[in-house]
Amino acid sequence: MSNCAIVGINWGDEGKGRMVDLLTEKYDVVVRFQGGGNAGHTVINEKGKFALHLLPSGIFRNETINILGNGVAMDPENLWNEMSTVMEQGIELTPDNFKISDRASLLLPWHRDLDELEEMRLADKKFGSTKQGIAPFYSDKYQKKTILAGELFYPEHLLSHLADIMEWKNLTLTKVYGAKPYTIEMLKEWIDTYCAKIKPFVCDTGAVLKQAQKEGKSIMFEAQLGSLRDLDYGIHPYTTSSNTTAAYAPIGSGLPSVKIDDIVGVVKAYSTCVGEGPFVCEMFGEEAEQLRKEGFEYGAKTGRPRRVGPIDIVATRYGVEVQGATEIALTKLDVLSYMDKIPVCTKYKLDGEEIDYFPFPVALNDCEPVIEYMDGWKSDVTAIRKFEDLPVQAQEYVKYVEKAIGCPITYVSVGPERDSIIIRK
Ligand code: GDP
Repeated sequence: MSNCAIVGINWGDEGKGRMVDLLTEKYDVVVRFQGGGNAGHTVINEKGKFALHLLPSGIFRNETINILGNGVAMDPENLWNEMSTVMEQGIELTPDNFKISDRASLLLPWHRDLDELEEMRLADKKFGSTKQGIAPFYSDKYQKKTILAGELFYPEHLLSHLADIMEWKNLTLTKVYGAKPYTIEMLKEWIDTYCAKIKPFVCDTGAVLKQAQKEGKSIMFEAQLGSLRDLDYGIHPYTTSSNTTAAYAPIGSGLPSVKIDDIVGVVKAYSTCVGEGPFVCEMFGEEAEQLRKEGFEYGAKTGRPRRVGPIDIVATRYGVEVQGATEIALTKLDVLSYMDKIPVCTKYKLDGEEIDYFPFPVALNDCEPVIEYMDGWKSDVTAIRKFEDLPVQAQEYVKYVEKAIGCPITYVSVGPERDSIIIRK
């Protein structure tokens, strides 16, 4: 049995969804282990184009078992809406191929309200939250003020537990933010409308995973966002509220003692970032607009234009180290085909000195990018499937990045479709 984690090396949106979709063929089980509906994976395959937020990207292969692990922000409302959409698109989801951990904490209706209310309070100091309730959810999880999915099987206990939490939460809603309180009737409706729909999929997924291990099945751990958004190792406070690193996969999936064999880090051939916070390599003006347009860099969840820049070697090297990546998938190489010269952020300049380490988050505000240029290839690479067939300038670019970040690039993606991939193994 082998297992692997697919993780983001940068700010998220690196193209993890397309890599999971490609590689799931080799895996029997796909598990999401952290995050929630705040980010989106886009998957394009023979079944269509799909925007996934909570669902694991293995749902398109009939034989794959898909699991939402205990580390996920389990939002019954968003999940049910997403399940309904993909089922309408012809994807089959049954308790056999899709399972929700009974130990996953539920994102409650007020978590989204609190996100919105807090961003309003922050006004021009806001973080650029996707307002999916993720930060309030994780803070409440660590305060033990949420409900576990398994509690849906104990209706009386569920209602009294929820009523207790509601009483506490209403104090914050009304007295801190001046918002309307929740009532038990509202919660009953939420349970009937959404929780009842997802309940058939809830089970002891830890046992399912242990059994899969015993039978020698292979498991893929699918992450959301990237190293630079990790709660502990990312750009504080512009991180997400969970650990996006492979090291968290065992805890958040339900197999706390599992050892991960391969860690595939996904890196985009240039940089993008959604939301606020330091983004040292950021491009502006027309140059940025063109890259954004060529790469279609608009948020999958929010439609917001993403901030863009050249590949950031300093941040990427750090991201590789944080993830413990054993190999790299470099995506969207085709997007750079229009450029005469390819900019690369090779170092940062801090207090007049050039540095090649990723500094403390606050110091990032004072860093400037050191940009060098490589030759462009100015030709369409989307139909190429062998590394040697790439224009020599594109080969040089890939080899340069590989050396600079210190990790082998084993996949080069040249288009969004499943087979638009060059495998270098
Ligand atoms: P994720 O959250 O890491 O899965 O990334 P997203 O799905 O938000 O962003 C990746 C986007 O790029 C999606 O729209 C993909 O279809 C697209 N994509 C992925 N790989 C490639 C590629 O090699 N070339 C092009 N042109 N698009 C790609």
